[in-house]
Amino acid sequence: MELTLDYALLLDRGLVRERNEDRCGAFEPEDQALHAQRGRLFVVADGMGGHAAGDVAAEIAVQTIQEAYFHGDWTGAPAKLRAAFVAANQAILRAARDGGRQGMGAAAVAAAVVEDRVAVAHLGDCRGYLVRGNHITRLTSDHSWVQERMDAGRLTPDEARIHPYRNVLTRALGAEAEAAPDVAERPLTPGDALLLCSDGLWGLADDRDLAQALTAAPDAAQAAQALVDLALARGGHDNISVVVVRVSGAVSDVAPTVKLPLGRDRTAGNKHEQA
Ligand code: CA
Repeated sequence: MELTLDYALLLDRGLVRERNEDRCGAFEPEDQALHAQRGRLFVVADGMGGHAAGDVAAEIAVQTIQEAYFHGDWTGAPAKLRAAFVAANQAILRAARDGGRQGMGAAAVAAAVVEDRVAVAHLGDCRGYLVRGNHITRLTSDHSWVQERMDAGRLTPDEARIHPYRNVLTRALGAEAEAAPDVAERPLTPGDALLLCSDGLWGLADDRDLAQALTAAPDAAQAAQALVDLALARGGHDNISVVVVRVSGAVSDVAPTVKLPLGRDRTAGNKHEQA
């Protein structure tokens, strides 16, 4: 069963950072057969490394994940996403070595919606959420120092939020020779909303804030704007990237109602966006 999706991307530099080192993308193949097999792909990447390297790493992450997902043999969405993260890791390591940008890397989350299922892969602290009814579920667990301590019962969420090591990642693209993303798959149903975001959003909004903004807005574009506005109203100290995907119903034919060419996103008209 093919689902009708209403989706929007929004990328904002925030109010403090001079550069935007986040990247996001929504990819929907024009080719009908490819679309039917591999569905639609959404990616958020948060680059790091300074000296103009973070945005390079994030850009490589989004492009490589997209290319690897839509090319080569089809092994199913979870396996393809895993392979795509491995490819992105290698591409970032190679670019860092060849370009004298040692230490650049990226956190990333990707969601592939195929028929009525979503596969989510991530490395680092970009997050995926699912809102169903009044309930919000995290689809990802941060690969971070504070998350490990919380999992071990040695840190509370309130302590983690202000901890000096809260930005220390334990896994990321470009950090190690072998990438080990977490990948999971679950069913989607009409009425569901997916959110992918960088820590520039979730660091300033708890799960309840996110669920409320997602469900109150009439469509994906307004939900994305509401989420970015929320982060800006709370200081916007970091780059903010948001992908909202709302499942509005089921259709029997595979023709999508929203058609974006590969690689295009909707950041035009955003006053904080850098060229
Ligand atoms: Ca960030």
